[in-house]
Amino acid sequence: MKTMEWTPEAEASIKKVPFFVRKKVRRRVEAEASDAGKTIVGLADVKATQKRYLGRMASEMKGYQLDACFGPSGCPNRALRADTLVERLEGRLREADLLNFLKQEVGENLKFHHEFRVTVAECPNACSQPQIKDLGIIGASVPAVTEEPCSGCDACTEICPDDAIRLNTDDATAEIEGARCLVCGKCIGVCPTGTLVENRSGYRVLLGGKLGRHPRLAEPLPGIHTEEDVLDILAACLEFYKQTSRGGQRFADIFRPEDFQRFVERFGKR
Ligand code: SF4
Ligand code: SF4
Ligand code: SF4
Repeated sequence: MKTMEWTPEAEASIKKVPFFVRKKVRRRVEAEASDAGKTIVGLADVKATQKRYLGRMASEMKGYQLDACFGPSGCPNRALRADTLVERLEGRLREADLLNFLKQEVGENLKFHHEFRVTVAECPNACSQPQIKDLGIIGASVPAVTEEPCSGCDACTEICPDDAIRLNTDDATAEIEGARCLVCGKCIGVCPTGTLVENRSGYRVLLGGKLGRHPRLAEPLPGIHTEEDVLDILAACLEFYKQTSRGGQRFADIFRPEDFQRFVERFGKR
C-alpha cells in the first residue's frame, strides 16, 4: 500500500485514539481508505472506520472472553488435555448471560474491557497468561515417587525446569521438593524405571488478575482441582461477580482479600 496523506482534521481525530491502539487504528483507516481508491485520508474516513469498528465490537461482544493456550495444536508441554473443560466452561459462561448483565450495568458504553475473562493454559508455562485473568486455570500433572529403585540415569533432573528433584544414589531413591515443583509432569514421562509416576492430574486455579491502570496478579487457590471443581469455582465467581459488580467493575477490582479467603475455605485443597 502506498503512503497515504492525512488531512489536518483526520490527524487531529486519530490523536484522540488511545496511544496503545493508535498505530493499529491508523493502519486500519488507511487500508479501508485505500480499498476505497483514495490517496488522502480525511476526517470522514476516520469516522467511517470508527463506526464500523464499534458496530463490529457490539456484534462480537459476548459478555465474557474465554481463551486457551495452543496446547491442542500439538504442544509437547501439555500437562493434560483440557479440551472438554474448555467446552464446558464456554457452556457455563454462555448460560450465565453476562452480556445482558453488563448491558444493564454499563449501558451503551459497554466495551470489550468490561468482559469477564477466563483462560486455560495446559501447563505451567502459562502461555495464555492466566495470571492476569479474572479466572486463570493451569493444567497440572502431579508426580509421585514409588518404591521402584532409581537407576540414577538423571533423565528427570535434566528435564525438570525447576530444579525440584534430588537423587540419592546411596539408596537408589528420588525425592521431589514440593515447594519448587510446578507439577508440569515432565519428569514422569522420562523416568524409565517407574520410580516417578503420575499421582494425579488436574488444574491449578488463580483468581482476580488484571492489567490496566491498577494491574494485579491473580491469587492461586491452594491445591489441584478436578474439572468439576473448576466448574463449581467458576459458578461461585460468577455469582459473586453478578451480586457485587456495579457499573462494569472488573472482578479483580471487587474481589477483596476477605472474599479470596472465603474461596480458600470453600474450595482450597491441600
Ligand atoms: S501453556 Fe504449555 S501446553 Fe500451552 S501452549 Fe504454552 S507451553 Fe504449550
Ligand atoms: S513435575 Fe515437578 S519435579 Fe517433575 S519436572 Fe515438573 S517441576 Fe520438575
Ligand atoms: S528418571 Fe527415574 S530412574 Fe532416572 S534418575 Fe530420575 S527417578 Fe531415577
